Amino acid sequence: MKLYSTNNKNNLVSLKQAVMKSLPEDNGLYMPVSIPKLSKSFYKDLDRLSFKELSYQICLNLFDGYIPENKLSEIIDRSVNFPAPIVSFDDHTHLLELFHGPSMAFKDFGARFMSQLMAYFNEGETKRLSILVATSGDTGGAVASGFYNTPGVEVIILYPSGKVSDIQEKQLTTLGNNITALEIEGTFDDCQALVKKAFLDSDVNNHLRLSSANSINIARLIPQSFYYFEAFKQLPSKERKVVFSIPSGNFGNLTAGVFAKMMGLPIDKFIAATNLNDVIPQYLDSGEYTSKPSVATLSNAMDVGDPSNFRRLKNIFSGNGSTWNNMRNHIVGLRFNDSYTKAAIKEVDSRYDYTIDPHGAVAYLAYRQYQIYNEDCQGVILETAHPAKFIDAVETILDKKIHIPDKLATLLDKRKSAEFLTKDFDAFKSWLMNHY
Ligand SMILES: *Cc1c(COP(=O)(O)O)cnc(C)c1O
Repeated sequence: MKLYSTNNKNNLVSLKQAVMKSLPEDNGLYMPVSIPKLSKSFYKDLDRLSFKELSYQICLNLFDGYIPENKLSEIIDRSVNFPAPIVSFDDHTHLLELFHGPSMAFKDFGARFMSQLMAYFNEGETKRLSILVATSGDTGGAVASGFYNTPGVEVIILYPSGKVSDIQEKQLTTLGNNITALEIEGTFDDCQALVKKAFLDSDVNNHLRLSSANSINIARLIPQSFYYFEAFKQLPSKERKVVFSIPSGNFGNLTAGVFAKMMGLPIDKFIAATNLNDVIPQYLDSGEYTSKPSVATLSNAMDVGDPSNFRRLKNIFSGNGSTWNNMRNHIVGLRFNDSYTKAAIKEVDSRYDYTIDPHGAVAYLAYRQYQIYNEDCQGVILETAHPAKFIDAVETILDKKIHIPDKLATLLDKRKSAEFLTKDFDAFKSWLMNHY
């Protein structure tokens, strides 16, 4: 399997290079040279395949022998190890629950698969691999649990002090072993700046073998295509047109859905559902891409002003005719503000007796809007996080207590362990140089 950089189609690398480096030097993003269609027999058998089996078949087809079958099966076994069930509100409306992993958000799929691939590519190395990652909340928890106890790999997570939720902080700071949390007196941007500087510092690079667990790593997108198949498999009707409504920030989830469609999954349309950070719906309306500073909303994991995967989408839809028109043939963009989101959380609670989180609520709104002009479709709304991750907001909106799953409740009782550092690079550098 070969990958190219979106900035230079002649810059080809192996999967190992793409995964270990995360980003090409020319500042593009890695993309597979080909995303082949799955065979007729795969689709014929799909209903009978388990989630793990279909994920394995997808990788086999995509990697084309690059990873030995027994290794691949181990990687899938350890990463696709929780379900993605569908909950049906009615014949036309289904919700895909992507929060059954350890951090209770869909980012677990990407983080676990990436950690397994990195551990595999790291086999036989004598020097330990140090993964540096800055998080504003959700990514850190998924990465921490994905790499927990991975031999030969340690993870150093930087997070902004006082700016992540209690649950998110506990997810980063209670694992121990090969996971170290650094609580930085500063913002998320400060954390990210420290990580960037460390990658450029020759002393640090001589001392540690560094890698990043960045969200634009191709290893995070690939497994996110698996659950589109898993959702399709569970749908009651295979005849009605299938639409996926995707609550979007950096558009990794939506791009992975487009990969699934390229592999032959019959998806009629994608709905790019955003909050007021609507750069892509704006582009779909006007043909102009204009990034803008992000604004804070209730669905804060989607507060992104310059979605990183837009470059991958542009690349996919370039070619015959206008990129804008090609993209509009597949993706519909819709945005909603927080008052609509609150109303949707209430509506889903009262009509379906279901507690939806603020991100899923945006996708729910977008699908309902889409349905007005498209009556006979079958919609799958991606529910990207468990509502208890946003417990304060959701309990206030619904004016009642919501259930906290055991997984989160036990976490809250655990003791936090983190090193406190200022945002000064020299302090961070000397911590890195001295921590063995
Ligand atoms: C990260 C995140 C999103 C946005 O996903 P993208 O792939 O960046 O578009 C949506 N919902 C939740 C809960 C998230 O954590």
